[in-house]
Amino acid sequence: VPRRRDPSPAGAGLVIVGGDAAGMSAAAEARRADPALRITVLERGPDVAYAACGIPYWIAGEVDDAGALIAHDAEYFRRERGIEVRTGAEAVAVDPEARRVTTAGGEQVAYDDLVIATGARPILPPIPGADLPGVVALRDLESARRIQALLDGREAPRALIVGSGPVGLEMAEALCARGAAVDVVELAPRLLPALPEAIAEPVAEAVAGACAAVHLGTTLERIVAHADGAGLVATIDGRDARYDVVLLGVGVVPNAELAAEAGCALGDRGAILVDRRGRTSVEGIWAAGDCATAWQRQLGRQRWIPFATTANAQGRVTGSNVAGRPRRFAGVLGSWVSTAYGVGFGSTGLDVDAAADAGFRPEALHRDGRDRSGYIPGARPVRVRLVWDGPTGRLLGGQVSGRGEVATQLHVISTALAGGLTVGELAEVDMGYVPPLSALRGPVERAAAAAIGDAA
Ligand SMILES: Cc1cc2nc3c(=O)[nH]c(=O)nc-3n(C[C@H](O)[C@H](O)[C@H](O)COP(=O)(O)OP(=O)(O)OC[C@H]3O[C@@H](n4cnc5c(N)ncnc54)[C@H](O)[C@@H]3O)c2cc1C
Repeated sequence: VPRRRDPSPAGAGLVIVGGDAAGMSAAAEARRADPALRITVLERGPDVAYAACGIPYWIAGEVDDAGALIAHDAEYFRRERGIEVRTGAEAVAVDPEARRVTTAGGEQVAYDDLVIATGARPILPPIPGADLPGVVALRDLESARRIQALLDGREAPRALIVGSGPVGLEMAEALCARGAAVDVVELAPRLLPALPEAIAEPVAEAVAGACAAVHLGTTLERIVAHADGAGLVATIDGRDARYDVVLLGVGVVPNAELAAEAGCALGDRGAILVDRRGRTSVEGIWAAGDCATAWQRQLGRQRWIPFATTANAQGRVTGSNVAGRPRRFAGVLGSWVSTAYGVGFGSTGLDVDAAADAGFRPEALHRDGRDRSGYIPGARPVRVRLVWDGPTGRLLGGQVSGRGEVATQLHVISTALAGGLTVGELAEVDMGYVPPLSALRGPVERAAAAAIGDAA
């Protein structure tokens, strides 16, 4: 159980660096646990409590205005929750002995406890021109506003997306919806290289029939400003093409520098190492969200699993502990789901390589099914792949894709993983059935049955 420090004489309280999913969840939970605690949030940007996950839907025009992506503003937190939120306040150094944070403006902010929730940042590929205006590494609302500004007033903009991961594909669809001609360049020989080929296939088919042109196994060599001053010229495998906006989507790295310089140990992929309470290796400093490791419940280890779900849950646990109400993080499975061009796709738990690395003897198969009875108009396909440990039958992971209700199927697999089911047990879970809503034997049950050799 974490030891709570006595408040400093000046009552410095809790200071949180970073005001998004992890930081604001920590703040809100700390407030619930301790109505009297002094809580200050330092956020370097202009926004707090925003939904980065909603950005593609704002760019697409499905969400009218960026304000809809902001849960609450700084004024709300001050007025309704008694949390002081300072925007435009970047923390540049932490002194763990003096328990002080220094901001870029030179202010010294004292703390009793500090939560670092600085998130992650996009990787800038090492190519000339990656830092030009017009090249956007999507992360927060400010970067989304830059995209909007680059698109505004252009009748038929041209966009280049570098990387074909989930966010890259969500953005490709969003830009298509805005009337842009979209090119996607991917170094790997296929789309969504992080997913098994059978699962990525339905997505690739949907993208091929859409407005985006996908260039697989290709390299972006450089970007320069166009000679007439408007737009950019990107060189892709030796050929030049002009774009109004270039989006970088080649992955993210944790913003762990502030913590590392304060002496906090780093863990998987350079993220801040925390325990299941959210404590770092330095007394009085906690961390949560994309900047930190998270407990992977199947591996029983701290891994870097940067998702909104992880950040939110971990933020809540950390905030509760800091405020003196002890909680232990149940951990995550690494579940995620996405959608592009009408096809949903996602993954949960361990895939074959990770399972083998963890000492299992993984087996995998996929099966196609439908999300409701096939004779119902609108029944749509869902492909489910399951991964299990051969000797014990223990379910280890799963992936889904298709035009049907994939999230529901994925949630079933995640729940089975959390419950420690075998594939045999999963095949026999009793799920409700009515033809317009579900299949008599759904895609997950069919795949699980096949895994135990029951072909029915
Ligand atoms: C376009 C897009 C779509 C996404 N879609 C999904 C999705 O569908 N599902 C999903 O699970 N995840 C999704 N994600 C990922 C999700 O947004 C992140 O996992 C989540 O926001 C992490 O929350 P966080 O609070 O840890 O970090 P962040 O949201 O990155 O917040 C960190 C905050 O800290 C601030 N900060 C950083 N350094 C400092 C400093 N030194 N001083 C002060 N402030 C600082 C930053 O400005 C930022 O506001 C998406 C991400 C993007 C960009």
